[in-house]
Amino acid sequence: MLNQKIQDALNEQINAELFSAYLYLSMAQHFEAEGLPGFANWFKIQFKEEQDHATIFMNYINQRGGRVILKAIDAVPTSWESPMDAFKATLEHEQKVTSLINGLYALATEENDYATRDRLAWFVTEQVEEEDNCRVLIDKLRLIGDNGMGLYMLNTELAARTYTVPSPLATAE
Ligand code: MG
Repeated sequence: MLNQKIQDALNEQINAELFSAYLYLSMAQHFEAEGLPGFANWFKIQFKEEQDHATIFMNYINQRGGRVILKAIDAVPTSWESPMDAFKATLEHEQKVTSLINGLYALATEENDYATRDRLAWFVTEQVEEEDNCRVLIDKLRLIGDNGMGLYMLNTELAARTYTVPSPLATAE
């Protein structure tokens, strides 16, 4: 059984993951409207991944005999100045999520809940990847500057991104 403190913190994290999903879905819609479908595709995959993150936590709470409580999701911005602006906002957001995951990890350690700490370890690694993905794209956008051909090529590259089921869901059940 999960202790109440851990359960509450995990439910908060589910809300944070769903907020991330909503934020990236909004970015995808922004890029659809901007005529950059490759960028929209990249953010739609982010959207799916964030829903997966929430699902991993929900499955985990249920597995431990806890109770998932879904709360209201805050409104998200609806437009960004430029692709660079959107990716900088994404990196900043992911850095915030990393600190939430680290806080949860510290709490699980403090509460001697090693199963929760183990589950969180996957997220610690995942956050390294999330932040790195954003940095790589920010670097590419910096190189592109205001070169239209560069933006066209990056849009094509991002259109090729495909979704893969994260390992905790691929192996569950
Ligand atoms: Mg996430």
